[in-house]
Amino acid sequence: MREIIHLQVGQCGNQVSTKFWEKISEEHGIDADGMNIDTGLEDHQRKERMEVYFTHADGGKYVPRSILVDLEPGTMDSVRSGPLGKLFRPDNFVFGQSGAGNNWAKGHLTEGAEMVDSVLDVIRKEGESCDCLQGFQLNHSLGGGTGSGLGTLLLNKIKEEYPDRILSTFSIIPSPKVSDTVVEPYNACLSFHQLLENTDEVFCIDNEALYDICYRTLKISNPSYGDLNHLISSAMSGITTCLRFPGQLNADLRKLAVNMVPFPRLHFFMPGYAPLCGAGSQAFEALTVGQLTQQIFNPKNMMTACNPQRGKYLTVAAVFRGKLSMKEVDEQLYSVQNKNSSNFIEWIPYNIKTAVCDIPPKDLAMSATFIGNSTSMQEIFKRITEQFNSMFKRKAFLHWYTGEGMDESEFTEAESDLHDLISEYQQYQDAVISTSDDEDELVEQEVEGQQQQQPQQELITA
Ligand code: GDP
Repeated sequence: MREIIHLQVGQCGNQVSTKFWEKISEEHGIDADGMNIDTGLEDHQRKERMEVYFTHADGGKYVPRSILVDLEPGTMDSVRSGPLGKLFRPDNFVFGQSGAGNNWAKGHLTEGAEMVDSVLDVIRKEGESCDCLQGFQLNHSLGGGTGSGLGTLLLNKIKEEYPDRILSTFSIIPSPKVSDTVVEPYNACLSFHQLLENTDEVFCIDNEALYDICYRTLKISNPSYGDLNHLISSAMSGITTCLRFPGQLNADLRKLAVNMVPFPRLHFFMPGYAPLCGAGSQAFEALTVGQLTQQIFNPKNMMTACNPQRGKYLTVAAVFRGKLSMKEVDEQLYSVQNKNSSNFIEWIPYNIKTAVCDIPPKDLAMSATFIGNSTSMQEIFKRITEQFNSMFKRKAFLHWYTGEGMDESEFTEAESDLHDLISEYQQYQDAVISTSDDEDELVEQEVEGQQQQQPQQELITA
């Protein structure tokens, strides 16, 4: 079995992850005690790859392979007293008392650094009990102090200790529409700088986009975290479908990275989902494959607030669930790509991959999940760096960070790294296919210092 270790760090990381575990436990047919319940699925369907995310413990109990981390006890107390409180392994709760006060430096350098070894001990223990660990997935927010600061510190340490394992994250991007903490752009920018270096794939889940989906599409006038997290857990369930259920395409984290990441730094993905529905309500009508396809390519369904129609797709993966025809899915996707060919990089042929899993999510007949690697992701980095810069040029709030031992140069470095990333996206967006050898070289050399990695088509269908 190719196991994944899940880390949930900070308030947001723990709240979102709890919803994720609730959802996938339900899909795999286990109750709050980790015991089997009947979901109507055949055993081989739900169990064959269940051990990617769950440890099959003594007594037949399934336990999430999750480590719960926080610098303060509050959120964990709520997890423990919540509906899934008894599902997690009690030894896997690691928490402090100090808090990070929305300060990345506290999470990364001071308070967090003091706790990191005890988290690594639990990680090692989980790692040792794996048959063949494929990698890690971290769930955290980028705007606070613990998930962002300690979360990225953990990634550094894990990368040192497990250099050949895949590191992926579900990272929640801050938005002033949802949170009123002013220093969030600092924390997010410092985190992105780390995610660029140390991860293989980042699913960018943007509170700004989630807020807009709730407000505009679902007509929820005052969205709560519960509403946002419901959307996130649907997307996370969709994204992980191919890892959890039997199937071929993108069946592990590495294959997904090979298919999705043409250049190592451009590994920030835009997730999307259809049909969108609010917590506790069901999709109004059954959708056809054509409608689902249209919806997942609609900017309104994207969980990152940038418009892919203003950029180009480097790569796309779509995961359809339910009893539907593979042929129809292929035809619909082919037609989307044909009709919108100017939205797809022309020098990566066949850059949409689709997977069909015949097990639908609970309460729906069909769903579709979208994973896009689009050059329009630069809009996110522009938004965050602009907010960062308006404070940084006056050195506002910097003393909170320098007081924890950070140097101003770390801010400058993070900002300029993100500016470089923005230009890389733009250069690839502008790069066109060329016929002569000379021009080919020009295209390939456009981004200086970038290691070129050709998409490996044979692995895509493996
Ligand atoms: P930490 O505990 O220090 O990591 O801090 P938080 O996780 O509370 O980070 C604050 C950021 O996370 C802000 O941008 C919040 O809007 C966001 N956030 C906090 N809780 C949630 C949640 O449950 N769901 C979502 N979507 N965002 C959250």
